[in-house]
This record gives sequence, C-alpha cells and structure tokens, in this order.
Amino acid sequence: MLPYSTVAEAEAALGRGLTGAETVWFRYSSGMSDFVLYCHNVLFLFLFTVVPLSLALVEVRWPSLIRRYKLQPKVQLTPSAVFRCFTDVMRILLFTIAPLQLASYPIIKLIGIRTGLALPSAWEILSQLVVYVLIEDFSHYWIHRFLHVKWMYENIHRVHHEYTAPIGFVASYAHPVDAMFLGLPSFLGPVLVPCHTVTFWLWNILRRFEGNDVHTGYDFPMSFTKLIPFYGGAEFHDYHHYVGGQSRSNFAPMFTYCDYIYGTDKGYKYQKKHLSKMREQWRSGNGPNGEINHVYYESNKLE
Ligand SMILES: [Zn+2]
Ligand SMILES: [Zn+2]
Repeated sequence: MLPYSTVAEAEAALGRGLTGAETVWFRYSSGMSDFVLYCHNVLFLFLFTVVPLSLALVEVRWPSLIRRYKLQPKVQLTPSAVFRCFTDVMRILLFTIAPLQLASYPIIKLIGIRTGLALPSAWEILSQLVVYVLIEDFSHYWIHRFLHVKWMYENIHRVHHEYTAPIGFVASYAHPVDAMFLGLPSFLGPVLVPCHTVTFWLWNILRRFEGNDVHTGYDFPMSFTKLIPFYGGAEFHDYHHYVGGQSRSNFAPMFTYCDYIYGTDKGYKYQKKHLSKMREQWRSGNGPNGEINHVYYESNKLE
C-alpha cells in the first residue's frame, strides 16, 4: 500500500510533482493493499478466458463469416462443445490456475515486485517486457519439449492436446501439473529482473493475449501480430495441436527461432504447403477423395 495519504505528501517524498500517470496510479491504488493489486492478475486470467467466447460465438452462429480464415475448417464447433470446453476451462481456472497464482504471492513479495511511486518509465517497462518475452520463449520451449517425452505426455500434457483444433480458451485447458510447469517461465523473467506491479500486469496481459492468439484456430491476415518479426502465431501452434501426441515440432509459445535453431520446425515446414492445399479442399467441403470432410466437435476428444 502507498505510504502517502495525499498527492502533496507523495510529491514531497519524491521531491517533484507527480506525472499524469503517477497521479492516476495514486488515486487508483492508494486505498488498496499490495495483495489486492496482485489479485488483478487473477481478474485478467478470467477476463482473457471470456474474451475468446465472442469468436467462438461467431464460429457457431455465423461460421461462413470467418470460415476462410479457419486453420482446420473441417472441424466445426457445436454450441454444446463450445459450452463444455468453456466450463471445463473455467473449472481449471477456478480450482487450479487461480489458486496457484494466489499462492505465488509470497514469491512476488520476496522478489520485490513494487507497487509504489515513482512509476517506471515507458522505456523501462518496454525493455523489461522484452527480457521477459525472451526468457519465457526459451524456457517454455524446453519445458514444453520435455512435456512431450512419452511418460510426461501420456500422464500430463495429453490433456492440453485433447483439442486437436484449438479455440481461444483452450490455452488454459491443461492438467494441473502442466499448468504449473508451463507457468514457471512466466515468473522467471520477473524473478530475474524485478519490476513494478504495473509492468507485471502488462506482462500477464501480454501472456494471456498471446495464449489466446495462438489458440484461436484462425489465421487472420489483418492481425497486427503479422508485423512482429519471428512471431509464430496461430498457424504455428495450431500445427502443434493438429499433429497431437506425435508432435515433435513447434514447441515455442511465441516465436519461431527456437524451433528453427534446435531443428524442431522441420515437420511444420514440410507440411505447410501440403496443409494449405488440404485447407482449400476442406473449405470447399470436400476431402482429398472428394468426400465431405467435416468433423463436428461434439466431445472433448476429437473423433
Ligand atoms: Zn504440446
Ligand atoms: Zn496449445
């Protein structure tokens, strides 16, 4: 909690006037404990699970509007499948991920995520986020690859792969141990380079956005992420789900360079051309042999 009760006190302590952003922060956070400020991250978690519902709704109600961007157009969601997936994910959030996040609070205090004034500059925020992204991408790559070792996959990671054609909120659909393992890289950056809680919020929002984005199941050409160099996006991760348990490809969550460096993008590169041809056939409603090739997504496990 801020140790000042008025803006004047805060300015006297800092020895300068507050910036506009600092005044907003003071007004917003002065009555809140550090724990309540930390709990905002749990709110982001739920918010970013609800947001993908809008895309799922469009897919169910007006599929023709976005069908040409769907990565696995042969898979069509039914309303009951969307609802079941959403309730499963909410259950996982409520009983696994949110408690894990709340239980991490002592670590946040220990590493010194600060809540006070002064606020970090835009440059400090940006440079810390870049460091977090690089640490996350590298460590997530190796942990994810480890989760594809036979025993780990069959007993833990298989749950996340039940959806071979993901939709946004599948990002959080995982075994509790999986959620714990793959949650670690998100903490590693802030542990090594502690930041202000505002930066930590932005980092969490960024992670949730990215998790949703790569699981949308759609490759929208107008997405601003297309402008980010080496960003894998939905197509890159969708392939990982499409191949499923046999997947030895596309382990990195955000960028493509780790898979390129360690040679785990070969299958993806090879299949990319072939898959785009298959997509065209699926979009026209015909499979490779001319048969209708729609798979309706009625259960957690794809037929
Ligand atoms: Zn995987
Ligand atoms: Zn995934």
